[in-house]
Amino acid sequence: MERWIAETFYGDWQPSMRVEKVLHEVKTEHQHLVIFENKTWGTVLILDGIFQLTTRDEFIYHEMMAHVPLMAMERPKSVLIIGGGDGGILREVLKHPSIRQATLVEIDQEVIDTSVKYFPKVGAKAFKDPRANVVITDGLDFVVTCEERFDAVIVDSSEPVGPSAVLHTKRFFADCQKLLTPGGVFITQNGVPFQHPGHLAKTTQALAGLHKYVSPYVCTQPCYFGGEFALNWASDDAGHLSVDAAALARRAKSRKIETRYWTPGVHKGAFALPQFMQDVVDKAVAKGRKKPTTKKRA
Ligand code: SAM
Repeated sequence: MERWIAETFYGDWQPSMRVEKVLHEVKTEHQHLVIFENKTWGTVLILDGIFQLTTRDEFIYHEMMAHVPLMAMERPKSVLIIGGGDGGILREVLKHPSIRQATLVEIDQEVIDTSVKYFPKVGAKAFKDPRANVVITDGLDFVVTCEERFDAVIVDSSEPVGPSAVLHTKRFFADCQKLLTPGGVFITQNGVPFQHPGHLAKTTQALAGLHKYVSPYVCTQPCYFGGEFALNWASDDAGHLSVDAAALARRAKSRKIETRYWTPGVHKGAFALPQFMQDVVDKAVAKGRKKPTTKKRA
């Protein structure tokens, strides 16, 4: 009997994939995890009914979440990754020769262990890199007590449900902001705005209340069905946003970083949002920047 696994994130439509073989299925302490094989998508990781990664197209958002902030910097040295237990972002971050340490904070050891076992090409090598520092704890707690500072904080969490929900709050963003070095960049994933514009709006409004520059960007992530995949960028230094394509090309060349999706042109173009998304962002930034009105004494 054929088995299909559907993504249960959307209420009234469900993308699904035929299961050639289940490689691992477990209810971990934090979430329901399935790793299975599909003819088109390769090896697939699904957490709590939401597609997280396929070996066919993982390079896309891993490159766009890591290289957009890091190529915009002269010499990025330290990065904090929250979530990202599959190791894909870690792999891309460590491609930058100037990186001294990449700290990855993952709530669920099982995600790391099964990712290394069942799709080793994604992060297995990165987890063994001496510059990788893996911490197993809730990202929300980690950022409260962390004393270190980072040139980039990259939040590769799942959708704002389950254990990831806390990673999409203003309180969490404010704690992350404290961890940035001067000019540091905060990146987080904002889902598919064509399906859920509220996710982009809520994050943008919260970040606009904290940072001088908030600038979402997009990539085409085939396994995140329903439209372009949005990432959000927040910083207090405009410099990184204005790096031109020629400088980006020079940096990619001098760092000898091979990519399959990111290019200097894609980097610059990713910040040009479709009008419906730009409208969501403009409204959210205006709301986020508005000073809270102090109630006049009666
Ligand atoms: N790129 C995917 C996406 O955009 O949906 C996310 C991939 S990655 C597998 C998501 C990771 O976030 C998972 O490994 C999950 O265990 C981790 N995670 C969820 N909540 C977390 C939390 N509060 N602290 C740290 N890691 C968390």
